[in-house]
Amino acid sequence: MNEFDFYTREKLQDNLWVVTESYGVNSTFRIYVLLGGEKTVVIDSGLGAQSGLRRYIETYISGTEKPMVTVLTHTHPDHVGGAPLFDEVYVNPKEFPDLAWNRNHYRRFGDLEWFCGHSRWVDDTDHDVMNFCYLHFVRELLQEEDCIQVNDGDVLDFGGVKLEAIFCPTHSIGSTIYYWRSENIAFVGDAIQHWNGFPGHEKGKEYLGWIERFLSMMPEDVKILNPHDVGVFGIDFVRNVRQCMEDLVEKKNLEKDSRAGYNNHFHVKQKRLGPTMPYFQLDHYVEDVRLGYNLFDF
Ligand SMILES: [Zn+2]
Repeated sequence: MNEFDFYTREKLQDNLWVVTESYGVNSTFRIYVLLGGEKTVVIDSGLGAQSGLRRYIETYISGTEKPMVTVLTHTHPDHVGGAPLFDEVYVNPKEFPDLAWNRNHYRRFGDLEWFCGHSRWVDDTDHDVMNFCYLHFVRELLQEEDCIQVNDGDVLDFGGVKLEAIFCPTHSIGSTIYYWRSENIAFVGDAIQHWNGFPGHEKGKEYLGWIERFLSMMPEDVKILNPHDVGVFGIDFVRNVRQCMEDLVEKKNLEKDSRAGYNNHFHVKQKRLGPTMPYFQLDHYVEDVRLGYNLFDF
């Protein structure tokens, strides 16, 4: 096993690559690498459960001449873990209250037990991967004072690559989308993805507003890229996410919902609220977009 075993790469266009970090069947962390500016820009930084991400990008994609920065869509463990490998880290400061918990080693390795599993349905951790990662993980922890703060509406100019920040806190308190206008590509992070959880009615209404706002800012032919879904998506995907949220907020079209999908099996939780209750969870689908919700909310 070596540090490059956890990565694959694909060239999406001349100035854009995707590196996929994976530890097993339950992890697909798509990390986008933007070329053509004065700095190499990396969108999100992976889990950092081993430390080869930057070396991999330098070896196969960018070379070592330019500074390399990471722009975080949010700071959940699978996005923030590798951040200290980079020369600069850009993040929305609204994430800061959660940063200590998100970068916590104990949580990272707890999540890794699921990420490196052999099965989606039951716990089946790959102990060889765990052992390798215990020896090779990114030990440095991202500090608030080392971050360059990004707020809604900011334009990050990397000398040839410009990214516009669009606040969209539908997945974490500071989730931010980055729109690369010259290429008409939106890096939406986990704010817009095929599988999310319904946050309850009050927050759901709020989330719907943020999704509507994002939709209103995007051209019809925008290309959507996110960290966990493989492919390039169109505006209809965002519309399906919006529809799915709207159905749950308005409690409509839910008659056919069932319990079909698998759950995350994370063990390390910040607040122990007792056992999770999958039997009381249902999934609502609009096309291939899924929102899991708790029956007790309805
Ligand atoms: Zn994620």
